[in-house]
Amino acid sequence: RLNRMNVRQEMKQQYTSFIYKLLKEIGIGAQHLNMRAYLIGGMVRDLLLQRPNEDVDIVVEGDGMKFATYLQEKFGGQVRLHEEFKTATWKHPNNLKIDVTSARTEFYDFPAALPKVEMSTMKEDLYRRDFTINAMGIALHKDQFGVLIDYFQGYNDLLNKKIKILYNLSFIEDPTRILRAVRFECRFQFKMDEETFLFAKEAVNNIPSLSKTRLSNELKKMFQEENPALIIDRLHQLNILPLIITTIDTYEAIERRVQSLKHSIYELYKKEIRIEESIWIAYLIMMTSSIETNELVILERYDLNKDEIKLMKEVFYLVEAQHHVTTESPMSDWHEIFNHTSTEAIITYYSYQANELVACALNYILAREHLIDKVTGEDLIQAGLQPNTLFKSLLIEGEKLKLDMPSLRKDEVLQKLLVHYKNMNKRF
Ligand code: ATP
Repeated sequence: RLNRMNVRQEMKQQYTSFIYKLLKEIGIGAQHLNMRAYLIGGMVRDLLLQRPNEDVDIVVEGDGMKFATYLQEKFGGQVRLHEEFKTATWKHPNNLKIDVTSARTEFYDFPAALPKVEMSTMKEDLYRRDFTINAMGIALHKDQFGVLIDYFQGYNDLLNKKIKILYNLSFIEDPTRILRAVRFECRFQFKMDEETFLFAKEAVNNIPSLSKTRLSNELKKMFQEENPALIIDRLHQLNILPLIITTIDTYEAIERRVQSLKHSIYELYKKEIRIEESIWIAYLIMMTSSIETNELVILERYDLNKDEIKLMKEVFYLVEAQHHVTTESPMSDWHEIFNHTSTEAIITYYSYQANELVACALNYILAREHLIDKVTGEDLIQAGLQPNTLFKSLLIEGEKLKLDMPSLRKDEVLQKLLVHYKNMNKRF
């Protein structure tokens, strides 16, 4: 039977020796406390898919907080207890974070609420998880180390590339699972089985009742997946798009922007230009069209951090400002407009524009990224200028010169700036 399969060998091959040894120690500790400990969730799934994953989630049959405290006493590090959920996080001295929970039955007060918790056994714990492929465990306690615990044919579904819920009310109880299903489908190129898909469709209307934080977290994770275009396509098929944002645009228009953004990110990635995590918010922005109202809607509806808010404001600002650079404009014109604007905001904004302009925007980003030998404030002072409010624009002038004439040496740029400065002063 599959649920007696031993995966010790796979663990040894795929996990780092540090993790493998740590899991063994955890198992020995559990045995010592007369508990059973299991590795569960994503790391088990990814082991069987041969994908790397070091999010160690441990479930114990027994008191998880007591177990985490024991690990901390034995191996050092720090432990944080979360009484309300009967869970704990143990931070190993080398900084690896390990979540320890008590095998539990989650029951829900009402749909879309956070789970409340009471003690129970492993099978019930696994039954309350989202999908069969995520509901497998690996025993760690010494006498069964490496035994795959698979009550719900998760391994079979994994082989058949299926996302399957464990019970019919699953999506009603927790609509974030619909979004999780889409995320896993796209990440692994799996598909929900027919029944799961129908249940998902029936439950989508509960998505708006999710709290701001849960919805934002899920969307963020979705749009940080490798292929957001696939995700948006699937959200469209499930009629979820109108539930997460108000848009009057056609799906085709949204899809085109998403593809364009994805293309820009990829082009920059190839040139080793770093894109900030906050870029996921661009996919949300992309679905909007009537900007003013949507800025408010997004702020009201989502729980964003300051980088995400900044990016959104930058993009909306660009849309309102309606600049006029063309494919013919010199780099200095681009820099005049965008010298303060983040790479993320530029590529988001240009995904609304024609491909030729996107190409120019990417060229500009690369050129400004590779500006070298820039004249600095220090150089201006050395040349005899008193620091003043014109410095900033003077330095940008220097960058513009260099962008248009890359072969100019720094001293040549400086000379031109000094002349420019004199003229500026004359004007005042
Ligand atoms: P990822 O690779 O994206 O981190 P993961 O499966 O590890 O995927 P987590 O969000 O870290 O995702 O969740 C860990 C485990 O907790 C999952 O594998 C699943 O068993 C369970 N889980 C997470 N969210 C839910 C949920 N909303 N409902 C039920 N079970 C969940």
